[in-house]
Amino acid sequence: MGGLMYPTAASVADFDRNLAHVRARIEQARARSPFGQDVRLLPVSKTVPEERIRLAIEAGCGQLGENKVQEAHRKWRSLADTPVSWSVIGHLQTNKAKLVAEFATEFQALDSLRVAETLDRRLQAAGRSLDVFVQVNTSAEDSKFGLAPGEVEAFVRQLPSYSALRVRGLMTLAIFSTDTDRVRACFARLRTLRDQLRQSAPDGVGLDELSMGMSGDFELAIEEGASVVRVGQAIFGARALPNDHYWPEPTNPGTSPGGAARI
Ligand SMILES: *Cc1c(COP(=O)(O)O)cnc(C)c1O
Repeated sequence: MGGLMYPTAASVADFDRNLAHVRARIEQARARSPFGQDVRLLPVSKTVPEERIRLAIEAGCGQLGENKVQEAHRKWRSLADTPVSWSVIGHLQTNKAKLVAEFATEFQALDSLRVAETLDRRLQAAGRSLDVFVQVNTSAEDSKFGLAPGEVEAFVRQLPSYSALRVRGLMTLAIFSTDTDRVRACFARLRTLRDQLRQSAPDGVGLDELSMGMSGDFELAIEEGASVVRVGQAIFGARALPNDHYWPEPTNPGTSPGGAARI
């Protein structure tokens, strides 16, 4: 099903066309959004081999998202001759934080102070800094990483201690469901939480950005205020395996049909 919707992009012209199409859909959704936000498109290149990523870079992709740190680090090395920068968008174990500190310019899945501490120490040592988003679990599914909404305020209050981390906003993955009301509710929950926290956020903690929405739901996310959308398959082509394969924890049978079912 996804394969028919999202053919594999195999030339610069394919990428030009897919990017133009996604950008047009973003612009239309933005025109419907009551929030008047700017929207940044973050192309997600996970599982895509280096040769095809080069075509996407030629078509103008300047920053790419990857959800697995080791895969991202490997691609960073092999594409060091290109101007592309890397955003890590997937859950991070503390023992891999040093890899992220080495190469990433952005990390969108911060959900633990241990990871914040390790990243900060490694970044300070390297003389680098990193844009971060706090990941929030807005669907209350066990299979999703991220802080519960009620934990975010206390968490954010600790972040000014880590001066190499530049806090930009919040990130979420909506529930995997064909019921658009339930998907939209996840996005609205992230926006509402951000609006509440903005008032109490400590100095230096920016909560301007909302990273939410992927190939199957980015228009809904933009209508609910997304300022960053993370789009893989609609640009690169369908992945062979459904989305739940790429998140390390098993999904809940019955509640989580996986990415293919949403398309
Ligand atoms: C893979 C991934 C995306 C993009 O999903 P697509 O279906 O390819 O658009 C977005 N966010 C995260 C965290 C991902 O792992």
